[in-house]
Amino acid sequence: MCDGELGGCGGEPLPRERPRDRCDSRCVKCKDGSPVVSIRAGDAFCKSCFKDYFIHKFRAMLGKNRCIYPGEKVLLAFSGGLASSSMLRQVQEGLNREAAKKLRFRPGIIYIDEGAVCGRSLDERAKTCRQVGAILRATGFPCHLVFLEEVFDLPTSVLNSLTQSPLDQAPSYKEAVAVFTRWQQQQREKRADAATSLEDQLAECSMQGFPWQERLAVLNEAGSSLASHAEELARLFGGVKSLTAKEELLQTFRTHLMLHVARRNGYTKVMVGDSCTRVSVRLLTNLSLGRGAFLAMDTGFLDSRYGDVLILRPMREYPAKEIAFYNYLFGVPTVFMPGLDTKASDRASIHLLIESFLCKLQSEFPSTLSTVYRTGEKLSTVPPEVPTDVSTAPARCLLCLCPLDTHLEDGSSLQATLLSEKLSQRLPAEDGCCGGGTQGGCCKAPPAGIETSQLVPLLCYGCRLTVKELSCVESLPPYIHEEAKRQQCRAAMKQEIQEFLLEDDT
Ligand SMILES: [Zn+2]
Ligand SMILES: [Zn+2]
Repeated sequence: MCDGELGGCGGEPLPRERPRDRCDSRCVKCKDGSPVVSIRAGDAFCKSCFKDYFIHKFRAMLGKNRCIYPGEKVLLAFSGGLASSSMLRQVQEGLNREAAKKLRFRPGIIYIDEGAVCGRSLDERAKTCRQVGAILRATGFPCHLVFLEEVFDLPTSVLNSLTQSPLDQAPSYKEAVAVFTRWQQQQREKRADAATSLEDQLAECSMQGFPWQERLAVLNEAGSSLASHAEELARLFGGVKSLTAKEELLQTFRTHLMLHVARRNGYTKVMVGDSCTRVSVRLLTNLSLGRGAFLAMDTGFLDSRYGDVLILRPMREYPAKEIAFYNYLFGVPTVFMPGLDTKASDRASIHLLIESFLCKLQSEFPSTLSTVYRTGEKLSTVPPEVPTDVSTAPARCLLCLCPLDTHLEDGSSLQATLLSEKLSQRLPAEDGCCGGGTQGGCCKAPPAGIETSQLVPLLCYGCRLTVKELSCVESLPPYIHEEAKRQQCRAAMKQEIQEFLLEDDT
């Protein structure tokens, strides 16, 4: 992959170049520089050509899809990892370019501290936040620090997909430029005489003051809402039976937090740093987890399921190895932090199993990842048109907001599962609760929220599997319970109306 000095940076054995090639090899692009990185067999690039290639790929991805309008607020999801750090650098590069090639959106950054579920102490979390803070401050972009604990404060609106698809109603790119220029002018005038809205002030606060230390201190304060949320979160994740379900749940919460921060601060796009490697792992994981119907949404460049906020994956054509080289060669800072699975064996979850399977295969067959990735491209279908009329819109999964895939078909695996559940329901003690309530005390408490049996019909097949791994659905954050109740009421009302109409007809 690269010359000997760089060996091992991708974590895999690097194929040795034959000495003969090495002597007369030159960069394939400029035919002059000495090659540092080999992208594919035979394509050896010098440092400067590799940089051009890397940056071009990012711009081409955005250009090809033309979905970011000038002046749009775009939230970059930063995790400290290789891919999202590299993505941040690409945006910085893009904004610094000469006018003709300049990216014209307004970026902000979100960092979600997940230390609470990864078994990290407050000191460790504070240290990581300081490191992340230093990197993010240096960009000068507005930053939003969110603790995973804050899912317990989310409003139910997070679970609503605003059904009008921005793609259908969006003006043309040219119109958008005109609107943007006018808007910029207005903003300048506004700013001159009036104070900015509270929302803007808040954003400004978290950007300039960066009060992470204070916020972490609050976590430590017994009795503070953040500290009690930390306990609730520990109880919830402690009750999840498998690492697979924990990862899925964490991904769900992560997305909900990003969506909320985006909506509250006027971001209309969220960029996530999923690399080609990550997308390939996600693809096969999805298939194993019964989420095959949502491949396009979960792995495609553009995910429009939330309606008003689009999720973009601009890094999805970069293999993890290319990203690692880029970061190494151009000094992109990253922060290592242990995740849910850091100390787990590679068989602990379906995600890990698939990742290790793909990596092992890739080390022997270098085209593995690209084959999986390209196959996924072909499998990905355009999601069905979302009708603008709310009453005819398809029902959506409460948690992942994908259109429900649970219409029963003869012989489907869902049908078989439901039948076997029906049969096992005749046996006692299968109500999905913790069976005694020694830990969370959920069985003693009156059922304030919703039970597994009530929640399941509102979910897609994949999310049902995750929720069934929860030993206590009671510990899910309030916004999920509230929205579930609301949807139940709505369904009941709808049925009542239909019955009434039928009676009226006869
Ligand atoms: Zn070159
Ligand atoms: Zn779902």
